[in-house]
Amino acid sequence: MNTPLSAALPATPRPALHPQTNADLHCHSTVSDGTLAPEALAERAKANGVELWALTDHDEVGGQQRALEAARAIGLPYLTGVEISVTFAGKVVHIVGLGFDHHDPRIVQGLRETRGGRGARAREMAEGLARVGIPGAYEGALKYAGNPELISRTHFARFLVESGHCGDVPEVFRRFLTEGKPGFVPHRWAALGDAVLWITGAGGLAVIAHPGRYGFTPTEEYALITEFMAHGGRGIEVVTGSHTTADAVQYTATALEFDLLASRGSDFHSPEESRVDIGQLDEHLSGKLKPVWNALEHRIHWPD
Ligand code: AMP
Ligand code: MN
Ligand code: MN
Ligand code: MN
Repeated sequence: MNTPLSAALPATPRPALHPQTNADLHCHSTVSDGTLAPEALAERAKANGVELWALTDHDEVGGQQRALEAARAIGLPYLTGVEISVTFAGKVVHIVGLGFDHHDPRIVQGLRETRGGRGARAREMAEGLARVGIPGAYEGALKYAGNPELISRTHFARFLVESGHCGDVPEVFRRFLTEGKPGFVPHRWAALGDAVLWITGAGGLAVIAHPGRYGFTPTEEYALITEFMAHGGRGIEVVTGSHTTADAVQYTATALEFDLLASRGSDFHSPEESRVDIGQLDEHLSGKLKPVWNALEHRIHWPD
């Protein structure tokens, strides 16, 4: 039997994806530490010219169905996303997952466990802040957390700004929330191999987020990349709101050296706080790179 033409062809022509595609594959909603709901982010992404979008909330896929449906409703191609907190060589590394099945039981359970320690950590952070004369920080931060399972340092930062202890969010991190400071509580996040496996096991592609932010020595960075690849990780962020232009140049070379696929995303959290708005990165991927989206075309949720 012949397949009817209407079933064989998509209703609207699919835009060609190329290295200069305005892809934004890293941002946060109220489901983690962003200030906009998934639907509002979808609208903002579309208005800002995004051609391929992924919402990548920290340690949580609770916003994926909403993002996917909102994107479909406004004609925006969508990839599922997440940003997983990992402990590697005693530091926190973020691994972005793209194009996975967000209902896959193993990633859902793994993320639930990763989120699990956040409540107790937040209470300890508040105790540290109380000791330096800032009371009520747990309750204060919780008010900013759209998802109580995902209380993060960002929510504490917003509370400390609102209550007049600091002028802006970066100042809070500098004075109170980074290693050695009164509100910092060390935490053990997911293992690198587990995070990569959850993503790839659900049909997705794992990406090292903002490598320029970790302050690794070349030896540590080599260890991160080679272990990540040994576990099946295939991508690295090159152009991101968390990188300088020099970082983008450096990680273009790294992606080529290790034959990693390159990703691009604003890491947008909030109109008031973020340096780069969603879809507004000035730089594109170098034409020499292989974009992650070429390897993920079969995983894109195309609008009808
Ligand atoms: P958490 O997962 O609770 O440790 O919070 C980490 C989040 O804090 C990151 O995803 C960023 O959104 C934010 N963050 C980390 N460092 C800084 C900083 N120096 N300035 C502003 N925001 C930061
Ligand atoms: Mn964040
Ligand atoms: Mn991150
Ligand atoms: Mn992020």
